[in-house]
Amino acid sequence: MNLGVLERYKEFLPVTSNTPLISLGEGDTPLVASNRIIDEVGCERLFFKLEGCNPTGSFKDRGMVVAVAKAMEKGVSSIACASTGNTSASAAAYGAHYNLRTTIIVPKGKIAKGKLAQAVAYGAHIAMIDGNFDQALNIVKELCEKHPIELVNSINPNRIEGQKTASFEIIDDIGSAPDHLFIPVGNAGNITAYWKGFLEAKRRNKKLTLPVMNGFQAEGSAPIVNNQIVKNPQTIASAIRIGNPASWEKAINARDESNGIIDSVSDSDILEAYKKLASMEGIFCEPASAASLAGLLKKANAGEDFSGKSIVCVLTGNGLKDPDISSTIEPVSMNEYSADISDVERALDLT
Ligand SMILES: *Cc1c(COP(=O)(O)O)cnc(C)c1O
Repeated sequence: MNLGVLERYKEFLPVTSNTPLISLGEGDTPLVASNRIIDEVGCERLFFKLEGCNPTGSFKDRGMVVAVAKAMEKGVSSIACASTGNTSASAAAYGAHYNLRTTIIVPKGKIAKGKLAQAVAYGAHIAMIDGNFDQALNIVKELCEKHPIELVNSINPNRIEGQKTASFEIIDDIGSAPDHLFIPVGNAGNITAYWKGFLEAKRRNKKLTLPVMNGFQAEGSAPIVNNQIVKNPQTIASAIRIGNPASWEKAINARDESNGIIDSVSDSDILEAYKKLASMEGIFCEPASAASLAGLLKKANAGEDFSGKSIVCVLTGNGLKDPDISSTIEPVSMNEYSADISDVERALDLT
């Protein structure tokens, strides 16, 4: 049985005797070995961390469960967040399970259909604003200062604490940290959390070798790469459409302390990696998630030698979240036939 992040990792989390060990079964996600794409990379071992297998379909649940538990510990009965989609889906799910009022502020028309469907179904109070994520975050910060509402965006340090548990799982699964971690970067909370997790694991086990952190933004919303706030960020990968990352400085620390990089990938690189993951590995992630593999392929194709290396690509969310993007994929074959076996045999090229 999946105990959940709080029960499983309580000694490493801000858990007191008063913290309720709540759970929707988050964490303990699969680490799947690449079967085909690895040939293109030329590394020793390549794994995908399937964070889309969390209860609401993204890694956001790992941190949300801690943020919500700490809010409940304080006796708060109302939570709020700004979101490009997955944070709101996660907040709304825990809010529903534990009977908290959940308010989410989302940029109008910029949230993927599956994510909005979740927030609606979980019963969140939804405010769609005529602005982008960064504006939504400013509004919700002010709301939570004025009212007894718990802010559950990743600037809430409990979110980062919960998210770091993914690093512990990777170390447990491989038996060590990988040589390289590849990860999408939006608000940069997740790269911050993974690095914190690896550092803490090394404090407990001095022999552990730390990974090189490779973060990837989308070209049209790459403030960290260009060292400049992006006023109007653009990318098909809505989960990383962020112009002013909340954890900017911490992401730079993770990059520099690990001798890593934060670089960008184009939307067409992202879509290519997204399609490859589905058609060559049977792993359907959302576009933002594929930025990790797009980054790895960009480096491998530029001639970086990964021989002998172990690599983990973090796939942050489930492909079903964004049906508008998946519907742009050309089917290999999808034709109409009469309800007749000999007619359908043509579909299998058996004639
Ligand atoms: C939130 C999210 C990201 C970006 O994570 P940050 O912590 O904001 O950098 C990437 N992919 C998916 C699917 C997400 O939901």
